[in-house]
Amino acid sequence: MEGRVALVTGGGRGIGRAIAVRLAQEGAKVAISYRSNAAAAGETAELVRKAGAGCETFKGDVASSEDVEALMKGVGGAFGPVEILVNNAGMTRDNILLRMKDDEFEEVLATNLKGTYLCTRAVLRGMVRARWGRIVNISSVVGLLGNAGQANYAASKAGMIGFTKSVAREVAGRGITANAVAPGYVETELTGALPENVKERILGQVPVGRFGEPEEIAEVVAFLAGERAAYVTGQTIAVDGGMVMQ
Ligand code: NDP
Repeated sequence: MEGRVALVTGGGRGIGRAIAVRLAQEGAKVAISYRSNAAAAGETAELVRKAGAGCETFKGDVASSEDVEALMKGVGGAFGPVEILVNNAGMTRDNILLRMKDDEFEEVLATNLKGTYLCTRAVLRGMVRARWGRIVNISSVVGLLGNAGQANYAASKAGMIGFTKSVAREVAGRGITANAVAPGYVETELTGALPENVKERILGQVPVGRFGEPEEIAEVVAFLAGERAAYVTGQTIAVDGGMVMQ
């Protein structure tokens, strides 16, 4: 992917940071977006530059169409049209359904699903014109299995899978692929707050017997984002130590 322009949303921390660095190692120029943690985004940018690639950071909410428009203008100005889009920005607001508030449902759907829709729609025209593009959406095993206390998050992540398949069908003839990666449990700030007993219960469901590393997710994303994955589209690849065996 030498010289390709990649955008990783939510690239400031966690899995997104590992993806940004991995794409840089493959030779891509990497733009990262973040919502509020500028210091973390700056650290990622340093790591990307150390890996030998250009990097720019952009602040904005992926759930806002104005912010996404500004993001794409910024990336376009710095590097040119986005050729590799990784929809990674995501969040949780867990609650059991009986107690779930409308804003908990809406905020999670807005970031995870609407954000994916807005960013993908914004880059698609450029990809169609170039007759080349790679879209990788970071879903979750929770979107495949469901999870008590995460009906909002599971709906958003399952929605991303249906969205990915539909986009894949729309643009398959134009040299563009769209795939989803469904990570299992990876230790980041997103999962760091879970109580120990919940972590142990999850670990009991992982055949490999350990949690995943952000770099292990990034490895599969890098494959899907590259030239060699041209014949893989509309798929959801679980990277989860065997939690989901399809
Ligand atoms: P983190 O919470 O560590 O990082 C989330 C990143 O997304 C941050 O950079 C954050 O920005 C950004 N972000 C969040 N909301 C928005 C928004 N509305 N607009 C723009 N950026 C936003 O998460 P992880 O690295 O753990 O997760 C990354 C992705 O992987 C998510 O989609 C998550 O659902 C998915 N995933 C994670 C798993 C895990 O075990 N960790 C398992 C399965 C899926 P800022 O730094 O400014 O806050």
